[in-house]
Order: sequence, then structure tokens, then C-alpha cells
Amino acid sequence: MATSDLTRCVLTPRVATEGFEPVGIGVHRASTILFEDAAAYAERGERGEKGYSYGLYGTPTTRTLEEKLTQLEQATRTFLAPSGQAANALAAMAFLNKGDHLLLVDTVYPPMRDFALSDLVRMGITPEFFDPTDLGGLKERIRSETRLIWCESPGSTTMEIMDIPAAAALAHEAGTLLAVDNTWATPLNLKPLALGADIVTEALTKYVSGHSDVLMGSISVRDPDLAKSVKDMIGRMGIGASPDDASLVLRGLETLGMRLRHCGAVAQRFAERLSGNPVIGRVLFPGLPTMAGHEIFKRDFAGSSGVFSLTFPESVAPHVWRALDHLSLFGIGASWGGTRSLAAPMSIGASRSAACWREPDVILRLSIGLEDEGELWEDLQQMLTALARLSAAGDAAE
Ligand SMILES: *Cc1c(COP(=O)(O)O)cnc(C)c1O
Repeated sequence: MATSDLTRCVLTPRVATEGFEPVGIGVHRASTILFEDAAAYAERGERGEKGYSYGLYGTPTTRTLEEKLTQLEQATRTFLAPSGQAANALAAMAFLNKGDHLLLVDTVYPPMRDFALSDLVRMGITPEFFDPTDLGGLKERIRSETRLIWCESPGSTTMEIMDIPAAAALAHEAGTLLAVDNTWATPLNLKPLALGADIVTEALTKYVSGHSDVLMGSISVRDPDLAKSVKDMIGRMGIGASPDDASLVLRGLETLGMRLRHCGAVAQRFAERLSGNPVIGRVLFPGLPTMAGHEIFKRDFAGSSGVFSLTFPESVAPHVWRALDHLSLFGIGASWGGTRSLAAPMSIGASRSAACWREPDVILRLSIGLEDEGELWEDLQQMLTALARLSAAGDAAE
């Protein structure tokens, strides 16, 4: 039948794949999945969670990434989302109903705060924020309508460590779910589900993909009932992840362990050497014994990643933006966790309500990449020297 070139152009011959065992999985792109006959098509709904029916609900490429993450997170199941923030928003929305109360850590990733205060409020959900370092305060805020407690440890930008096992115990006592955005630690350095959390999200965009060229997020859950809620909702919303992007994340994941170990070690040495520098206020890095929460960090985390922050004294803070132009290796830009080291000046005052920020509101977030350690250090010194000079000149002008 298929003798016309026009038909041949459309039909794809199947070559043998037996014996072809590459190290990674190929990129399987599909919307349509063909069925062997009409009966198989009619029964496609019974193929179960491992079966394939339509590209939106998974391809071998996206399923492979989900499976790898499920193993690393010690989860029941993982779902991909098109970005880390999409994973956060979907993970929260899957479990919240009108009238529910939602507790969020005050140091939550700022777009998640905005999502709670705009969209979730519009849906009739009441968000409230708690101080990550005050579990008594968290306990007091739990009500009978509290459905979900949303955590992030260390906190975005200011790096406060939370006692996840203790928060999970409080949540479960009250019949509430506990979710953790685990982007900083990645599943290699912290396993929130093993510490009692019910849901964990990751911005795979950061360390897991690791090359600043892809956006993706994941939602992993501890229990099959929770998995069903997430699966059904993201299916209804039509959310899927691109197999091309999933394949990039799978490639990045293969080197995550080595990259993370290197970036964490360099960050530790830089954080120690920067402590006490007169132009710096505090070095916010959980690997420093002077950081509040360091003991919890040592107990729960297997290591640190390469992202940390610097605060500045009053007389120095106004000059930070200009000093950044003296960096040449560190790029200036948002996101982190890639091969290129990055610096980003952050202002957080407007995104804190339970634990108000009382220091100058310019915090410099650094992400250590894979460049030569000595050259990175020199680059930082150049910026700090400029900062000292600008601050001294600023003082003299007053
Ligand atoms: C970057 C980030 C996200 C969002 O990831 P995107 O893929 O950029 O949407 C979520 N949570 C945390 C803690 C992050 O740092």
C-alpha cells in the first residue's frame, strides 16, 4: 500500500533498537502515541501509571528523569513542571481548597510569596507567614483550617536554616501537610521526605541541570494519594515538560555530585575568608559555625552548595551597586547553580513580614561556579577593594 513517496515521507520505518544501549536515554518527542488497534485505543485509560497514552502525560525521556528524581528524593513519585516556580505553584494548588489556611516560611522564594498573596487569596485561601527560626511561633499559628505548611531551608537570600523534622512533627500532629522547596540543597544534600516532609519541590533550573540553559521544576511526594492529587491536577491544567529540556536536565544530573561538592567546598573557604572583612557585615552561609541553625544544618544536610550571601554595614551598603562593576569573572544576573559564578544584589525588605529585616537592605548573593578558585577569589577582592575605596570616599564627602 505504501508505495507512493508522499506516503513514504510520512510513515517512519522502524529500525532495530535491540542491542543499542546508550548510557543515557534518547529524546523521545511525542504528542500522538499510536495504538496497535482500535481495542487498544479504547482501553488506553487502563494502561496504568507506567503506560503511555499521550505525550502530555509522559514520554520515556520525561519518565526517566522523574524516576531518577524519585529515587534520589526517596519519594513515591515525581512530576515535572516547566519551571521551579511552576512546580511550587502547582504543588501548593493541588492541595488547597477555598477556606484553607496556608502557612509559609517568611523567607520563601519571593515569587511564591506573590503567588500566595495574589492568586491563592483570590481562590479564597488565607496565607500567613512564620519566622523560620521560631517553631513556637509556627505552632501558635497552626489552626484547624491549616492545610499546608510551606518551607524552604535555607531561606531565600538570608539563608536561615529550619528544623524540618520538628516542623514536620508539628504539621502531622495537626493533620497538616508539610512541603519543602529544596532547591538550594538539591536531593543530594538534603532529603526532606526522609525527614518527614510530605512534598518536596526542586528548581531543576539551578544545580540539577547546572548549565544556566534550561528551566524546569519537579514535585516529589511521599505517598500515593498525594501523587494522585498532583497528577490529576497537572493533567487537567495541561502542564507537561519538554523532552528536550528533560534530556538536558538528565545530562546535567550526571555531574551534579561532582559540581556540588566542588562549589560547596569553594563556598565554604570563601565564606570563612570573607568573615571579618571590614566592608562586609555578615556572611550568611549555613556552613559557618557562627550562623544560627548551623547545628541543625550539620545534623540534617550532607553538605552545602555554593550559594551564599553578604550583608554590609550602613556606610558601605550604598556603594555596593557601583562596586559590582569591578567584577569581571562573576557575572551579574539572576538564578544560580550553573557553571558560571554569579553575583546578584538583592533587596528583601518588602518580602519579609514575620521576621522583619533590620539591616541595610542590599544583600549580595553569590553563586560559586566552576572557574578557577584563585582567579575567582582575586575577582572578589577587586570588587571588595573598590567597595572599600568607594565607602571611604563616600564617608569623606559627608
Ligand atoms: C530559582 C528558584 C525557584 C524557581 O525556579 P525557576 O525554575 O527559575 O522558576 C524556586 N525556588 C527557589 C528556592 C529558587 O531559588
